[in-house]
Amino acid sequence: MKYDIIIIGSGLGGLTAGAKLAKEGKKVLLVEQHDRPGGCATTFKRKDFTFEVGLHEMDGLDRRDMKSKIFRDLGVFDKVQFLKVPEFYHFTNGRCEITIPHDPEKAIEILTDNFPEEEKGINAYFDQILNARKKAKESEGKAEISLGEFLDSIISNEDLKLILLGNLGYFHDDPFSISLNYYSVAQGSYFQGGGNFVKGGSQKLSDYLSDYITQNGGKVILKHLVTEIITENNKAVGIKYKGIGNKASETETIYGEEIIANAAIPNVANTLLPREHGERLQQKIDKLELGASLLTVYIGFKKRAKDLGSRYYSTFVFDDSIKTQADIKDNNKGDFKDRSFTFIDYSQIDAALTTEEKSVGVICSIDYYSDWDKLNEEEYKAKKKKVGDVFIGKLEKLIPGIKDQIEYYEVGTSKTIARYTLNPGGAVYGFAQTPQRIISDKIQSIDNLHFASAWTKIGGGFSGAIFSGYLCAIDILRKSRK
Ligand SMILES: Cc1cc2nc3c(=O)[nH]c(=O)nc-3n(C[C@H](O)[C@H](O)[C@H](O)COP(=O)(O)OP(=O)(O)OC[C@H]3O[C@@H](n4cnc5c(N)ncnc54)[C@H](O)[C@@H]3O)c2cc1C
Repeated sequence: MKYDIIIIGSGLGGLTAGAKLAKEGKKVLLVEQHDRPGGCATTFKRKDFTFEVGLHEMDGLDRRDMKSKIFRDLGVFDKVQFLKVPEFYHFTNGRCEITIPHDPEKAIEILTDNFPEEEKGINAYFDQILNARKKAKESEGKAEISLGEFLDSIISNEDLKLILLGNLGYFHDDPFSISLNYYSVAQGSYFQGGGNFVKGGSQKLSDYLSDYITQNGGKVILKHLVTEIITENNKAVGIKYKGIGNKASETETIYGEEIIANAAIPNVANTLLPREHGERLQQKIDKLELGASLLTVYIGFKKRAKDLGSRYYSTFVFDDSIKTQADIKDNNKGDFKDRSFTFIDYSQIDAALTTEEKSVGVICSIDYYSDWDKLNEEEYKAKKKKVGDVFIGKLEKLIPGIKDQIEYYEVGTSKTIARYTLNPGGAVYGFAQTPQRIISDKIQSIDNLHFASAWTKIGGGFSGAIFSGYLCAIDILRKSRK
């Protein structure tokens, strides 16, 4: 049997591509190594709690956002409910405390009230991020600058820069190595369209897209690992795959007209393609760096955190040792006891992740695979426990009394993400979006092999992966009409 489309991986990029292609009549096969679809967009259950693996907030879903069009096209809004997040984020660093709304006009007002002498810089910041695409076009051909350089050029007050960088971890770990253009488009979308959470957790969205593929004549196979992309005459023509875990089976071969890799591009180069093609692809991505990973403490509370003194949906706590933006990267790379973090309190919205009385929250920080990969199993477990306790101690400092109300917690590291997504280094946003990156053109490998994931030009996050999947499908549909 031959498929029109074979997709390797069921992250949002793979699912979106598969859903669109299945809708347009293509016979789709999607193969996923995990036991559920979604990649980073999944949930897991412990006791009474449904833990959201990743999503804090997804930007946009306003009129201008392309995701609104994509979700309408795929019928997502009929079956999946999105909840608006009440504020963009609350920021605290021991010296200042401020809540940033999603509405840019209100945000400008609050920031200007707090930093009247920086009015010009605040306006320049919002002019940049709200007109990001236009600004990026205007700067075409010029050397790109970093976000950190831009902030230094418009604002003097270091705390104000830190406040604006509160949610930097949504994209990267260091203001001086993230492209201003990339950041501006993504941050601008949060300010233009607000933030959204999927009611019941992002698994609802992933399950919907997976079911949509099967309802439109496709097939989704879970717990099967793709081990090879088969090529003939410089074309991708099929895959080899085998069942794993309790589905362990012999390797099978299946052929398809077009192959889409949702799997990380470095893995396509290093493990999936035959050597000569893999080496050629590797040369194209050699200079690209892996993006950041994240550590999460998943917490189930006996009561609703909002009844325990928690006041915000997301609170970014910067360690007070961070005095300037230049200290951010060192803090991320430093000891966990000083590491900045965010606390997401899902009880602030009707998230439907547990019973009426209880609630779910997560503590999240930047994380590096190198902090974990050399440890043996026991050392790894012990360190996870220690780091979990460190972050819970920090949460207790933020919201006194909350620690006693914890019913369950569990730590997921960059190693956990690598295990469930196979992403190298547990990267959650694909390649780092540095100003020097050369993902400006589509990364091409061999004919009939396409990429749809956070690892493509558009970058990571829910939006990046969804756009990349949809655009990949459109490319294939155009090609097949020729
Ligand atoms: C803790 C955390 C918090 C986050 N918070 C946010 C947030 O608030 N907002 C936001 O927008 N984004 C957030 N993200 C990022 C976002 O979730 C990801 O960037 C995005 O979902 C990545 O999608 P993807 O399509 O690239 O695939 P991935 O999610 O990386 O999934 C790839 C899939 O391919 C499968 N696969 C890989 N290789 C193979 C193979 N050989 N055979 C079979 N299957 C294979 C994997 O098992 C996996 O399911 C967060 C992520 C994490 C982990």
